[in-house]
Amino acid sequence: MTYEVAVRTLCEFTAKRGNLDVRFTPSPSALEGIAGHRVIASRRGSSFQTELTLEGDHGPLHVRGRADGYDPDDNRLEEFKTYRGELARMPENHRALHWAQLRIYGWLLCKQKSLSGVTLALVYFDVASERETVFDEVRSAADLEQHFAAHCQQFMSWAESESAHRQLRDGALQELRFPYPDFHAGQRDLARAVYRRVRTGGALLAQAPTGIGKTAGTLFPALKAMAAGQVDKVFYLVAKTSGRQMALDALRRMQPGDSQPPVRVVELVARGKLCEYPGMPCDGAVCPLARGFYDRLPAARTEAIGISFLDQDTVRQVARRHQVCPYYLSQELARWSDVAVGDYNYYFGRSAMLFGWTVTHQWRVCLLVDEAHNLVERARAMYTASLDHEGLESVRRQAPEVLRGAFERVARVWGEVAAAQAEAHRIYDEVPRELLVALDMAVAAMVDHLGQAGPDEALQAFFFEALAFCRLAAEFDTSTLFEITRGEGARSVLCLRNVIPGRFLAPRFAAAHTSVLFSATLTPPAFFRDILGLPRTSEYLDVQSPFQAEQLTVRLVRSISTRFRDRGRSLAPIAQLMARQYAAKPGNYLAFLSSFEYLDRVAGLLSERYPQIPVWRQHPGMKEPDRETFLARFLPDGQGIGFAVLGGAFAEGVDLPGSRLIGAFVATLGLPQVNAVNEEMQRRMDTLFGAGYDYTYLYPGIQKVVQAAGRVIRTATDRGVLYLIDDRYAQSKVRKLLPHWWSIDGPPRAHPGATVGNQTIPAGD
Ligand code: SF4
Repeated sequence: MTYEVAVRTLCEFTAKRGNLDVRFTPSPSALEGIAGHRVIASRRGSSFQTELTLEGDHGPLHVRGRADGYDPDDNRLEEFKTYRGELARMPENHRALHWAQLRIYGWLLCKQKSLSGVTLALVYFDVASERETVFDEVRSAADLEQHFAAHCQQFMSWAESESAHRQLRDGALQELRFPYPDFHAGQRDLARAVYRRVRTGGALLAQAPTGIGKTAGTLFPALKAMAAGQVDKVFYLVAKTSGRQMALDALRRMQPGDSQPPVRVVELVARGKLCEYPGMPCDGAVCPLARGFYDRLPAARTEAIGISFLDQDTVRQVARRHQVCPYYLSQELARWSDVAVGDYNYYFGRSAMLFGWTVTHQWRVCLLVDEAHNLVERARAMYTASLDHEGLESVRRQAPEVLRGAFERVARVWGEVAAAQAEAHRIYDEVPRELLVALDMAVAAMVDHLGQAGPDEALQAFFFEALAFCRLAAEFDTSTLFEITRGEGARSVLCLRNVIPGRFLAPRFAAAHTSVLFSATLTPPAFFRDILGLPRTSEYLDVQSPFQAEQLTVRLVRSISTRFRDRGRSLAPIAQLMARQYAAKPGNYLAFLSSFEYLDRVAGLLSERYPQIPVWRQHPGMKEPDRETFLARFLPDGQGIGFAVLGGAFAEGVDLPGSRLIGAFVATLGLPQVNAVNEEMQRRMDTLFGAGYDYTYLYPGIQKVVQAAGRVIRTATDRGVLYLIDDRYAQSKVRKLLPHWWSIDGPPRAHPGATVGNQTIPAGD
């Protein structure tokens, strides 16, 4: 059986030795890397060929890759490496890895072109100065062949065990039965749709109600598709820790037998959760688990993949046995795993590891994006950067002489720009060029300085903020707002606020073979497709709810307006309505308001006028134990009203089945606040999608309402009541966004019948 491996993977496996060293080494961005390669190629002669595909075999091993450039006239093969800072500080083991890679390309080239030898050139390109430093050597084909064979030989036993693993895995997955007695209503439709989408490739938005088992309903078909050779890897991406745990639980159930699980699963968590030496730099000179990391990695890796199911505790135990860093071990294991479970950030973030590997190794991946409605806000945050003038001032005060000039210039230009602004806050069409130039120069100066000086936490923190700002500014367009907010005295904050992340996410979806985004609230699908940058060919599935209209009594309260200007007048009627419902049917209720201030006024009035009703409230910044206390008051057959803010911690992901919750009051439409940022966002949404108000206010608002209302009916036996309090709920465009199965003033609306097959999202739906 042939085993295919990329040159880079092969060398990283066989040639990486020594310390882990991720100290201050700000690598160039992907864009800088591409630009750097272009600059070098443009300096070469007309016979220079770029991106040369090379491949060759050693026994059952098929090695392939793309060399950066070859000049047949000079018989010279080149490998480009872009970097920042001081080249002399590049760790020796990095350089050795680069040479190993180039020599393998050298042999593949000699073999392909029947050459007796070749000149190999390692070209290091400084992205700041655009200066090249070249190391070269002349090697005979025989010599290179030996080098190639030695690396392949080292990799062979791993490759054989990998092939055996895949065979075993695929065999077990072909036999895999759905790990629950039966599919829930709607779950089978979801599973079928996912399987079909993985077979064709492309994106699927699946709206499926809470309680049908979306986790198993998406993982099961994805694993089945893996067994059929449709995908190499599954990435299960979550917004919250609870989603990660549910995926791990479902995956555990999908591992038949007690012996070694057939599917390799790794849980990815933040560095802070796994680091054994918090606060220490990840530098072999300081952290004992970074020292000699690559020397001890092979044994740790072998043991870990033998265990196969690698949640964070298991990874930590293996790492302790081999005295390696658990965080970096988990990253290494993600390469060799079939399923990785982690935060959205691992694939969608700016320097996302899983995305980078997908592109580099050309993996066919299936993304399963859990609770995907959260991706809109999460992605906006990932592509937003800000700089506080206070941050600049504090590093400027302590700056070494060598940075003073650069910081002075930034401070001067920044001060001028801010002083020219009369208002406290303004949104600009572009980032002032002079400010960017000054920041870029300061970043370059900090790279040089930090590369040589010892650790300086404050300066490094400012450096990374400034770098992120400059990189985002380099890609500035209408999807991002540039804002300056003025504070007291000279204080001001610069912010690049992303409002339409689709432009950044589109390449992420394009690199995946299949992307399945699922949630209970993905209405309307065109909104998510447009904002998230999903392809036009994306399909939509609306899974019919397993719940019956009789289970939920929905009452529209048209006589009350919760608009800001009407809030004072709304307090008494809302409190009265709650008291009336409570008297008619005592039990546990949740009340959702649009803000803490509104919440306190309504809850206060209710307690004052109806002191017999137990009331408890959410507070701003509630910590985990307080949240647990809040939820613990929803006892089975308990009585009282818990007040929470819409869109907050209790408005989604909270499961209170049966008599723990028998009703909810939603006294708001959930519309985001009208402010300068949202008004500008509306204008941009209008220009881009022709639906400014809906995309900025209405859809995000109603999604929050539906999420919150979803707390009431959790199982097929639950019964409850939902009050939607605001006259605007009577508008047909609002009611169209509410779930089909709800019966509002009449029978439920007909379900569009999307369960019979996926549908392409209609334009403007
Ligand atoms: S243990 Fe902590 S400090 Fe050491 S290498 Fe790992 S993450 Fe870095």
